[in-house]
Amino acid sequence: MNTSSLTESRDTREPGPASPDGAAVATTVHSRLTVLSGPSGVGKSTVVAELARAYPQIWISVSVTTRKPRPGEVDGRHYHFVDDSKFDQLIASGALLEWARFSGNRYGTPLAPLKEKLEAGVSSLLEIDVAGARQVRMAAPEARLVFLAPPSWDELVRRLRGRGTEPPEVLERRLAAAREELAAQDEFDVTLVNTSVRDVCRQLVALIEQ
Ligand code: 5GP
Repeated sequence: MNTSSLTESRDTREPGPASPDGAAVATTVHSRLTVLSGPSGVGKSTVVAELARAYPQIWISVSVTTRKPRPGEVDGRHYHFVDDSKFDQLIASGALLEWARFSGNRYGTPLAPLKEKLEAGVSSLLEIDVAGARQVRMAAPEARLVFLAPPSWDELVRRLRGRGTEPPEVLERRLAAAREELAAQDEFDVTLVNTSVRDVCRQLVALIEQ
């Protein structure tokens, strides 16, 4: 069991892509907190969906976002979909552990449910972008940061294009963000290459339950 206190100072300035700000945190972590990050399109959400199916003992945080739902996405399950003013309120009230702008939208991790799970000793996973992972590192240095890498850059481009849910300018923005995110790999504790969803899940669970 991992016990350490974590605190982060509150700052409501706008986050930049390289140094976003988080919200106030003061809690005790009683179990392992794992962050899964990596470029958009690498397959994080597929890995997380498989993890939720095959390893229900691991709690997966549901983020808040200002992005509009994609076809098939369910409010409260894939994300909590909110408007800009609600997101502003969440930041102002310190309800988010971290938040970041990504490709024109904002995304954040609700603090209260995560704190509750960690205090109950439940292994918990956040699936967030690199900017968010950096904030978690500051707020909870004992968290394990896992980077999910694509087998190659071409494969990442293929996956992002293949998704077919985004207009070309959004796709270009996501590719630009992916290039920057790939460069952050060395900041992470572990890199897993997404060659097979099942293999990555097995490796991830081994890390979480280590
Ligand atoms: P998407 O729009 O494809 O669902 O997500 C875009 C990016 O936002 C992904 O890299 C995803 O990991 C990230 N993301 C999802 N939830 C959060 C969150 O709560 N915080 C941060 N910082 N990033 C998030």
